[in-house]
Amino acid sequence: MAKDNAHIKKMNQALIISSIMKHGEISRADLAKVTGLNKSTITVQTGQLLEQTLLLEETQEHYLLGRRPISLSINPEAGYALGIDLDRNYAVFMITDLLGKPLQTEKVALAAMDYHDIVRLLTQYIRHYQGEYDQASHGLIGVTIGIHGLVDHQDQVTFAQPPIDQGRHLQQDLQSQTSLRIHLKNNANLCAFAESVYGHPRSNHLLSIHLGSGIGLGLRVNTETLTGYHGFAGEIGHMIIQPEGRPCSCGNMGCWEQYASERSFIEQLSTAKHKSDISYEDIKRWKQESDPVTCRLMDHYYDDIAIGLNNVINLCNPEITILNSELLQLHSNAAQDLRTRLRSTISNPHVLLISELGNQACVMGACAYVIQQFWGTPRLDFTAVRA
Ligand SMILES: [Zn+2]
Repeated sequence: MAKDNAHIKKMNQALIISSIMKHGEISRADLAKVTGLNKSTITVQTGQLLEQTLLLEETQEHYLLGRRPISLSINPEAGYALGIDLDRNYAVFMITDLLGKPLQTEKVALAAMDYHDIVRLLTQYIRHYQGEYDQASHGLIGVTIGIHGLVDHQDQVTFAQPPIDQGRHLQQDLQSQTSLRIHLKNNANLCAFAESVYGHPRSNHLLSIHLGSGIGLGLRVNTETLTGYHGFAGEIGHMIIQPEGRPCSCGNMGCWEQYASERSFIEQLSTAKHKSDISYEDIKRWKQESDPVTCRLMDHYYDDIAIGLNNVINLCNPEITILNSELLQLHSNAAQDLRTRLRSTISNPHVLLISELGNQACVMGACAYVIQQFWGTPRLDFTAVRA
């Protein structure tokens, strides 16, 4: 019985929090109306949340209307979330408040580090942020690390770069060093989560595809991320689009990421232009100058993206499809150019967008995941942060 009561209290508080978040500020009477909870439940639960400093209350005076009801809002400074994007060569750290507003970002190189170096570095930074935010009533509330690889349902990494897999227990090792709750999540899933909470919180069918050194997919259906039986769903870069095509590290040939990842495009361009270290600025300039080699390869690149996109859209039938790509961000008409290549009369993207969050999506999604776990709300809406 006590367990049931605790569960109901948690559900009611989550409902109250998500309603306050949605409205920005709201009176207790209106909160009762929008949640359907009775007034005494609202009074008790908001009282507890105020005691925990998680809510603010404010009486607003108006010179014509007189005293207005007391409004409740979230106290964004009651605690802070740390997100980490752990990529092959660097780690990005971001701190947000409890409403998802980014407060600071730091990028650190991970040159030639082994597992122990990485644990040491992550521990050092997590402890640093713990100290920096310990004056807040709830301090640093947790950490989520975006992993560019496979992560199972137990937050165990089974394949990733840098070397954090192969029997390692990154989550336990960091938790024992920092006494914080640490979550490990796949980067493409965190990108999809960020696109949802920061841009499209009402969409129940959102597909996010990340084109980087490989290709990852995150699919949000209602309030859930599709993760699959082991947690490895969305490894769409290894969909074969070319029989007997280019060899892939997965053991197959002709995988989509051998054609449509940014790494593959840059490698092709580098070979064709006889130039190593090609930057996004180089590509932008060559495109503006209508360089024939760049334009020809870019044309093929869009074709190859469209082949995979056609397959994925037929599989998922999303409402919103978002491509996260620094390369496509360079071109204002990239979404339109891709759309003209999607000719299926059966399933087409309802809305096709290039991500505005770009390379911050993973780390923003990591912060949002910490906040979601803290509040216990299935649906977050951080669109006000970006307005
Ligand atoms: Zn492959």
